[in-house]
Amino acid sequence: MEDTLVKSNVLKGGEFIIKESRADDTFIPEEFNEEQKMVHQMVKDFRKEAGEKVAKLEHQVELMEQAGELGLLKCHIPEAYGGMPFDTNTNTIISEELGAMGGGFATTVAAHTGIGMLPILYFGTEELKLKYLPKLCSGEWKASYCLTEPGSGSDALSAKTRADLTPDGKYYLLNGQKMWITNAGFSNMLIVFAQIDGDKFTGFIVEKDTPGITLGAEEHKLGIKGSSTRQVFFENVKVPAGNVLGQIGKGHLIAFNALNIGRFKLGVMCMGACKRAISISVKYANERQQFKQSISNFGAIKYKLAEQALRTFALESVSYRISDLLQDKKKALMDSGAAYSEAMLEAAEEYAVECAIAKVYGSEVTDYVVDETVQIHGGYGYSEEYPAAAAYRDARINRIYEGTNEINRLLMVSQLLKRSMKGEIDMVGPAWEVQKELSSMPSFESPEGIYGAERKALGDFKKIILMTAGAAVKMQMDGQMNIKEEQEIVMNVADIMIETFAAESLLLRVEKVAGMSDRKHPQDVYDAMLRVFFNDATSRIQKSATDALASFAEGDLLKTFLMGVKRFTKYLPVNVKNERRKIAAVLIEANDYCF
Ligand SMILES: Cc1cc2nc3c(=O)[nH]c(=O)nc-3n(C[C@H](O)[C@H](O)[C@H](O)COP(=O)(O)OP(=O)(O)OC[C@H]3O[C@@H](n4cnc5c(N)ncnc54)[C@H](O)[C@@H]3O)c2cc1C
Repeated sequence: MEDTLVKSNVLKGGEFIIKESRADDTFIPEEFNEEQKMVHQMVKDFRKEAGEKVAKLEHQVELMEQAGELGLLKCHIPEAYGGMPFDTNTNTIISEELGAMGGGFATTVAAHTGIGMLPILYFGTEELKLKYLPKLCSGEWKASYCLTEPGSGSDALSAKTRADLTPDGKYYLLNGQKMWITNAGFSNMLIVFAQIDGDKFTGFIVEKDTPGITLGAEEHKLGIKGSSTRQVFFENVKVPAGNVLGQIGKGHLIAFNALNIGRFKLGVMCMGACKRAISISVKYANERQQFKQSISNFGAIKYKLAEQALRTFALESVSYRISDLLQDKKKALMDSGAAYSEAMLEAAEEYAVECAIAKVYGSEVTDYVVDETVQIHGGYGYSEEYPAAAAYRDARINRIYEGTNEINRLLMVSQLLKRSMKGEIDMVGPAWEVQKELSSMPSFESPEGIYGAERKALGDFKKIILMTAGAAVKMQMDGQMNIKEEQEIVMNVADIMIETFAAESLLLRVEKVAGMSDRKHPQDVYDAMLRVFFNDATSRIQKSATDALASFAEGDLLKTFLMGVKRFTKYLPVNVKNERRKIAAVLIEANDYCF
């Protein structure tokens, strides 16, 4: 399945800010091949069969083993280590469907296949890969990832767990405590981060039955109650010196690199959860009668259904666009001689900005969608007898783990600026062009082509990023501001980046769908999603940019910037009521998520 052609015009990580993408170069879910559709159906069947079991802790091991039998735990691992690697897009399909399972099973699988297995694949010696990966691929063994401690979460590198070499040089003795460890109740193997000699942050593979390891009780969580989350204590735990992962003192490379791809997958799993929540919403809205009619007849409910669907459609466009970028990069690296694991690692590093966007956007769209699912259910949404309540509770974790959304917002902006400073992408030239444009006469020409207005608006969103981030960087260079201490501004810039990436991904998809004769729905439904999204994104971006600029500029300088914001947010308002009704009508008719 690893045979997809590399396109000629693939953007580098973060480059979407300064370059245009073409629909022809973008993969969209409407293009799944037969093999991908088959895999999708297989995972769907697994999900349906698992049913209610996913929400119950006592069934997690059984379900993991079933997933192992179906090959779902090994599709990102080379055959030499017991795997059966699928292309990235097929893996994305699997993550989407697992995300729809709810109850915490997606968390269980993701902790095992992602942060549990990838550190071994990326940084393990050949001997360690051969020893551990086959058992993890089959599901015979389950993995946990132990980074967080009671005193160190976001500030993970300040962990206190120690590792000290024994006098004979054969073992490290681990002492410390880890917190919130997924799968801890049943895992057989732990990836553990500890400070060698108290200050060299390093990764280890630790077998769970090693004497000296004890567990705290299961945490009483708000949601994902089916997953196991416990503290893990280490008291003089003897770990063979050969179980060190990567280089001593370079554990941060393992911790953060495993998280890049984990963040992308989390966004994808969120998309699966959204589709399920919409399906629950629309079925209930059609069935529930008030004032002698289905509540789906009411405009207020149509608004919610349409908004749930269009945000999810945008998230799906984001997810498969990034998936394909990762796939192309991996393929290109392998074609030039890189090993599979090296290529996977480097591809995720290249698109670290986009992976962070997927995580933040995915988790926030999901929270919106499940909140409206509860609202559509009224009082029944507040009852555990209906699925809306669990979907609502389960979703909330996504903004917290794999790096909180605040940390991911900081990261996407800092990564972008770092890439620009290193000369990997040229933001200075385009930012200078935007500055020049600000002092020139605006053009009054109407955009051409069927999606000309959206193309123009998208280009303008990018100009706003360059104007806002460029002005902040200039302030810093002039010694008037330290960006690191002005997080509110960084959050604003991150929000504009996320909005812009989502708008572009949606536009590319709708443009491509327009050229397909076998599209599922009339084109004007896709166009409606696009127009509503651009309409609303324009005002969200306007607000974020205004807030950012007014935080550091004043007087005439601020006036110039605000004129820029006005000039670059000229997307003509659309009749969002009618456009949303078109989208809602399709959902109501299908009685399901159907895009
Ligand atoms: C159900 C569950 C499962 C988990 N599974 C695992 C697992 O398997 N393995 C594992 O290692 N960990 C796991 N975690 C831990 C998770 O990754 C952390 O909870 C998360 O990284 C946040 O750390 P914290 O809870 O200590 O919060 P803190 O880091 O204390 O953050 C608290 C708040 O402060 C903000 N904040 C912190 N630093 C900054 C900053 N520099 N700038 C701006 N804002 C900041 C955060 O965004 C957040 O809003 C899990 C957590 C939960 C709840």
